[in-house]
Amino acid sequence: MKHKLPDLSYSYDALDSFVDEKTMKIHHTKHHQGYVDKLNKTLQGTNFEDRSLEDLLKGLNELPDKVKTSVRNNGGGHSNHILFFGGLTSDGKNKPEGPLLEAIEESFGSFEEFKNKFEEVAKSHFASGWAWLVKSGNDLEVYSTRGHDSPITDGYQPLLNLDIWEHAYYLKYQNKRGDYVENFWKVVDWKEIEERFEA
Ligand code: MN
Repeated sequence: MKHKLPDLSYSYDALDSFVDEKTMKIHHTKHHQGYVDKLNKTLQGTNFEDRSLEDLLKGLNELPDKVKTSVRNNGGGHSNHILFFGGLTSDGKNKPEGPLLEAIEESFGSFEEFKNKFEEVAKSHFASGWAWLVKSGNDLEVYSTRGHDSPITDGYQPLLNLDIWEHAYYLKYQNKRGDYVENFWKVVDWKEIEERFEA
């Protein structure tokens, strides 16, 4: 299995209320593409060439050291960016409905409380990483991971994620990560996140 960079379902300038065209373009064609290329290079000629990305991340800790570090960083980077770019839209609704909304209300009290908790985690995470909403058994949890560590390796099902590496926002926001986090809600594709939850 040669890993590939997925196309985006929107143009690079479509999410301007969140991030600018230049950032989106560099993020997708340079950063994300770079993780894909490095992952393929690592796996080439090994026993893991045909293993799916999800299985690589699930079984990360059983991989030989040389493959493990690259799968952690580049496989995690690839998986996290597929989820991130695939969870954004320029014409979404402003909150989830149905079973996902019910689960959020059950786990966090209300949609507003969930948003506050997610923002707090994303704003306070130290250094590069990701903020997540994940499914853990029957519960939902918000937490963050370092580098490109994936919730899949932790045994969770990822639903929603926000890239909090500086490369995701620095051109538009510089040090104002808080504004970037708050603008994220304008472009979340809740329909897609509902589908992930119900899958
Ligand atoms: Mn990124």
